[in-house]
Amino acid sequence: MAKRKIALFGGTFDPIHLGHTRVAEAAARQIEAENVVFIPAKCSPLKGFFPNATDDDRLRMIELATRSNERFSVSDCELRRPAPSYTLDTVKHFQKECGDDASIYWLIGADSVDDLILWHRIEELIDICYLAVMVRGGYAAPSFDRHLHALGRDRVEKLRRNVIETPSIDLSSTHVRHCLAAGEDVRDMLCPDVLDYIRRHGLYRRN
Ligand code: ATP
Repeated sequence: MAKRKIALFGGTFDPIHLGHTRVAEAAARQIEAENVVFIPAKCSPLKGFFPNATDDDRLRMIELATRSNERFSVSDCELRRPAPSYTLDTVKHFQKECGDDASIYWLIGADSVDDLILWHRIEELIDICYLAVMVRGGYAAPSFDRHLHALGRDRVEKLRRNVIETPSIDLSSTHVRHCLAAGEDVRDMLCPDVLDYIRRHGLYRRN
């Protein structure tokens, strides 16, 4: 019997924007995943600094942005662990929870490909799940050639087989934060409920 496919989408989501939700929708369709789980990181090991918004605010904004899609859900498992948030630990947590009849996909944007080699125990991560790279607007198409030597041919082939042709959306949380601090219009960048939450809680204002 074919395995169930579960897609995990980790990130800082500070705040979650329409780029995140649109590529996740496209990835779920392409993978034929029954569920996409959004997983806010307590602190990304590679970012090295804590997010602007609190854990609770980021979690709440993700809930608001994802509640209209029945395939989307949210997990606070990384927020409950001490920082830094290692993807490998999270994938193992879901493998245990979902059982042997599920294949776990971990979604990442193409901007993360250069840094892949710095990820905690990256070889093991590539081996135990499907690391699926999504196209990202403003970044080159994913290429793994430079990792051949460090990761080996089989792992690089596995990464290549799992590139996902998502829509190219040139949008980042950094840009959203800058626009919010400058008082610019962000209505085409955020789910309306997320924007309303940000306004009501006075988030991302200029200090
Ligand atoms: P920041 O600007 O604060 O670094 P970000 O917009 O890159 O944030 P993250 O929460 O760090 O958002 O990203 C989570 C995941 O989503 C990462 O794998 C990232 O590559 C991916 N991602 C973010 N925005 C896009 C986008 N527009 N298209 C494709 N992938 C994206």
